[in-house]
Order: sequence, then structure tokens, then C-alpha cells
Amino acid sequence: MPSFFIVSTPIGNLNDITKRAINTLKSVDLILCEDTRVTTKLLDAYNIKKPLQSYHKYSNLNKINHILNLLEKGQNIALVSDAGTPAISDPGSFLVSEIVKKFGDNIKIVPIPGPSAILAALSVSGFFADRFRFFGFLPHKKGRQTAFKNIADEKDVVVFYESKHRIEKTLIELYEVIRDRQVVLCRELTKAFETIYRGTAKEILDKLKKDKIKGEFVVVVDKK
Ligand code: SAM
Repeated sequence: MPSFFIVSTPIGNLNDITKRAINTLKSVDLILCEDTRVTTKLLDAYNIKKPLQSYHKYSNLNKINHILNLLEKGQNIALVSDAGTPAISDPGSFLVSEIVKKFGDNIKIVPIPGPSAILAALSVSGFFADRFRFFGFLPHKKGRQTAFKNIADEKDVVVFYESKHRIEKTLIELYEVIRDRQVVLCRELTKAFETIYRGTAKEILDKLKKDKIKGEFVVVVDKK
């Protein structure tokens, strides 16, 4: 029975990869990735020489059928994303659901766990995140106000992703609904410019503006 491996990869620091992830990537027939340039850097660092094909948010049904055919022929395939755990707010989940739909238990779907930006952020937050609610990326337009209302009403710790293009706007809108509730903003986790900002959304925005607003972000909001 062929296996489809969901392999977590570093969220920045290339050392953050498990031995099992390396061995799995060395063992499969094919690696599916979001951006071949990003994954090539990782594979080169570990001297992994395997065929790479892209699978990203613009991949169409033909691509999915092609992958399903390869599995049917008995190929072992690994899925990685640009960073962290595939299928968590990135394109893998649709593919996994199609594999489950087509093959059920006739294909082994194997998690190779490792880094994820959400868990790294929660772990340094200092908030009691024994329960938390993950909002993925907030909607840009439709549903955005509702998302902020839901965050304000949420009784557990909240965590979500944000990009450099919207972080300023998001912190302003967040402050309007949660006021003095504590926030932790994690920027560039595991990378050279890793910064953990703590305070109210307003205080964090002031600090962030003094630095350059660059990088990738995870926002954690303390419970009510
Ligand atoms: N599946 C990935 C995971 O498990 O972490 C997340 C994929 S999502 C498309 C990418 C978002 O994760 C980025 O826009 C950013 O919000 C967050 N992210 C990824 N790497 C990060 C890092 N090193 N520091 C802070 N946030 C990061």
C-alpha cells in the first residue's frame, strides 16, 4: 500500500527539521511542494535529491488527478509546504481530502510532525493556552468585522496569522474591539530578526512602527 506523508518543515531556521522528516524525504519517489525554489534550498541543505513537483493554491483538478494516479500506481509521495505543517492554512488540506475521498483506507496517510508557526507562537506567549481558538488568516473584506467581533467575544486564547501588508491595520482594528486585553505579536520566529512584542495591540503597534514593519507574523490574544 503506498504512503502519502505530510512532512513538517522549518518555519525559518533550517535546523528545525526532524531526523524522521529528512529520512522520509530521502525515501519517497516524489516530493510535492508549494514553491520549488523554497524547497530546493531545504533539500540542498540536507543533500536530498528527489524529484520535486509543485502543488500550490493555484493547482487545478488536472494536477490533483495526476497525483491521485501516481498514488494508484504505487508511488510514495511526500507533501511539504513553504514553511511549517502542510494543510494548516496552506493548500495541502484540499489534496488530503481528495486522497481520503478516493482511496479511503487503501492509502496510508502519515503525519511527520514538526514546526508550526501557531504552536511556536502560543508556546512563547505566556498565556494559558490549554484551550485556544485558531482563526487562520482573517478575511480581508467580507466577514472581517464579524471575525473581529468573534475574537472579542472569544473566551479562549486566540491565535491567527497576519502578513506585513495588513499587520498595522489589523492591530488598529483589534485594539478597537479588545482594548486592554494583552496581545503577543510574534515576528519572524526562528529567523535572524525574530521579535516577540508584548502589550496591548496599541502599544505593540507603536513598538512595531519604530522597527520596520517587515516579516511574517502570528498574533496571539489573551483570553477575556
Ligand atoms: N502551515 C504553516 C504552519 O504550520 O506554520 C503556516 C502556513 S501560512 C500559509 C503562513 C503564515 O504563517 C505566514 O503568513 C505567517 O503569518 C505565519 N508564519 C510562518 N512562518 C512564520 C515565522 N517564521 N514567524 C512568524 N509567522 C510565521
